[in-house]
Amino acid sequence: MDIDPQILSNIVQILTTLGVAFLTALWLSILFWVFRDIRHRTRDPFMIILAVILVIILPIVGVVIYWIIRPNQTIEEKYQAALEEEALLQELDKKPKCPGCGRNVEPDWILCPACHTRLNKLCISCGKVLELPWNLCPYCGTPQQKTFRSEQNQ
Ligand SMILES: [Zn+2]
Ligand SMILES: [Zn+2]
Repeated sequence: MDIDPQILSNIVQILTTLGVAFLTALWLSILFWVFRDIRHRTRDPFMIILAVILVIILPIVGVVIYWIIRPNQTIEEKYQAALEEEALLQELDKKPKCPGCGRNVEPDWILCPACHTRLNKLCISCGKVLELPWNLCPYCGTPQQKTFRSEQNQ
């Protein structure tokens, strides 16, 4: 079976064109993907340009390098992580500590059981737990200043 060299060269040419077209499409879609991906990860225009240039210059290797050096977290993930951290810190803040010995104490304790530091006081009228600086009971409105003084006088 003889193959006409002209047809053969035409086939090679078509395949080459298809191959180039395919690679160009692949390259463009990679470029597009990197551009979209980096914008999710950083707002720094320098980083975005750097990533795009890297992929333009080194289509395949550039993507691998980009994959390795790109920021691990997207902006959204970073935001989420920051929120979680803040929530955790607030949770820790909520647990009061004894100013005398630093142990964890319950918010409604009036004395530290370990070092006997005064933590809170009780309302003279309704008996609810009040913070020491408060001179007015937020539950019943009774001024506390008087008792505080009379307590000291006793
Ligand atoms: Zn204590
Ligand atoms: Zn009260």
